[in-house]
Amino acid sequence: MQAPIMDGVRVKRGSGEVVRLPRGASLTDFAEKIDAMPADLVKVLIGMGEMVTATQSIDDDTLRLLGQELNYDVQVVSPEDEDRELLESFDLEFGEDEGDSEDLEIRPPVVTVMGHVDHGKTKLLDAIRSTNVVSGEAGGITQHIGAYQVIAKAEGGDRPITFIDTPGHEAFTAMRARGAQVTDIAILVVAADDGVKPQTIEALNHAQAADVPIVVAVNKVDKEGADPMKVRGQLTEYGLVAEEFGGDTMFVDVSAKQGMGIDTLLEAVLLTADAALDLRANPHQDAQGVAIEAHLDRGRGPVATVLVQRGTLHAGDSIVAGDAFGRVRAMLDDEGNPVEVATPSMPVQVLGLTSVPGAGDTFMVVAEDRVARQIAQTRQARERNAQLARNRVKRSLEDFLESLQKGEVQELNLIIKGDVSGSVEALEDALLKIDVGDEVNLRVIHRGVGAINKNDVTLASASKAVIIGFNVRPEGKVAELASEEGVDVRYYSVIYQAIEEVEAALRGMLKPEYEEVQLGTAEVRDLFKSSKFGTIAGCLVQSGEIKRNSKARVIRDGAVVAENVTVVGLRRFKDDVTEVREGFECGINLGNFQDLKLDDVIETFEMREKPRKG
Ligand code: GDP
Repeated sequence: MQAPIMDGVRVKRGSGEVVRLPRGASLTDFAEKIDAMPADLVKVLIGMGEMVTATQSIDDDTLRLLGQELNYDVQVVSPEDEDRELLESFDLEFGEDEGDSEDLEIRPPVVTVMGHVDHGKTKLLDAIRSTNVVSGEAGGITQHIGAYQVIAKAEGGDRPITFIDTPGHEAFTAMRARGAQVTDIAILVVAADDGVKPQTIEALNHAQAADVPIVVAVNKVDKEGADPMKVRGQLTEYGLVAEEFGGDTMFVDVSAKQGMGIDTLLEAVLLTADAALDLRANPHQDAQGVAIEAHLDRGRGPVATVLVQRGTLHAGDSIVAGDAFGRVRAMLDDEGNPVEVATPSMPVQVLGLTSVPGAGDTFMVVAEDRVARQIAQTRQARERNAQLARNRVKRSLEDFLESLQKGEVQELNLIIKGDVSGSVEALEDALLKIDVGDEVNLRVIHRGVGAINKNDVTLASASKAVIIGFNVRPEGKVAELASEEGVDVRYYSVIYQAIEEVEAALRGMLKPEYEEVQLGTAEVRDLFKSSKFGTIAGCLVQSGEIKRNSKARVIRDGAVVAENVTVVGLRRFKDDVTEVREGFECGINLGNFQDLKLDDVIETFEMREKPRKG
């Protein structure tokens, strides 16, 4: 049944049916679901006061409102649900171990080191690694691949522990935000000479929010003024009560610098894991896990460090990691040695992906390359749509009013592509710290690792963004596409240069401020009437110079009687001239302003752009 909604538009009204649409869907997607013409939906939306094109992606609220208007129950499907459904369509599931409890085997704990800046997180990670390398041989070339495994001495035999090599709770929480919880236990580092600090509390909150048990490493006990007991006292206030005080948190005194207490700390990690957690996984299934760090290697192509969470990863497996896919060509452990298999909690570098996944993306082994490619491509398309939707976030009315009051808010959109995720993040951080006042906003609408590709350019063109390439170049014909689309792509290899240029661009975007600069004054000594020009004032230039075509005002008895007039004619005797200097006589014609009197002062000036404070 086609009922007219408005003049000339016939759209089938629903009767309350559910229409599921992915976040960022377009009117074309919507139309397809309800068997209507996209153009008709465009008209309906125009009727509702929204101008959008058929292929533009629409925000959640507008999709729902349009649904109401047409009597459909629009359900915007979250990316997580959508991904689950995507995997289901291939009979796959992420996150659960296959089989029952008999199939599960003990796996090593995965540990993140957190704490206040300068309390020794990095030093501790280094100390742990250098005293307990898996191969047992010291002096080997250690590689920072984002995670490493060490062997800890424990009752009943040696046991491995996996450490995430990027210290700090930011990385931890960024991964959690992507739905990837890799950390089982957090080591909270507190310097004994400095005590509990704001970031200590922050780290603690992050760990507690994620329900991750904490082991406290009281560091720098070698230092004068170290007071490990004070740290224990301070932390009781935050619910971390040391075992020796009747609580259940293990505190271990260490000196990362002297390598002291490390073994005890590792033992405490294992004891805490055994007491608080049941860390088991099924090693006999297709591998699943999380990409911890990834970059584009000039020689080897995309390289991703993955942490296997369940199953066993083999060379030759087809995998999909976020929106990247490929076949595992080779695997390397944290010392750069080739490995054939990776079991639960083991971090390995994987070569063979066709693009670079994001840190925190989940990965899984699938039966065929084709499946991996299809899942990756669906995710790519979805991410593109979601980005387009995000870029058109409607500003709230309050924001809008505020920006109206302040004068138009301007925004510079950026897309950052870099060779490693670390540098992309560092650059984004630094850029977002640039402050040129409230009038100009900087927004990073997309960031990623790898060459600048077609999607980046499309996105940039759609959202009028500038692309920043940090140590990366465009793929194939992408540079041409960018110039066709009028997309500005800039390349840098030094962070501060990028910052400098972006800052300059931001300043350029600021509306110029003008200031008035006085050029000269002239006093009216005589008045003539010309049949051709009207009033001509015979003047004496008293200061500066009078220039033809400059702006002028007329002052009589100290008051401005004419503002915003122009020196239309300027003469010396019978000749037209462009300027007359101080002390000379001249004839001035102010065009439309004819009402000059004797003794009036004509003041000329120009507006000059004021340089912004640097
Ligand atoms: P992070 O910011 O938490 O990663 O801290 P770092 O590991 O970079 O350490 C900060 C500073 O404290 C460095 O100068 C380290 O050498 C020093 N440091 C770290 N651990 C110890 C320790 O156990 N004893 C002493 N005396 N200094 C330490």
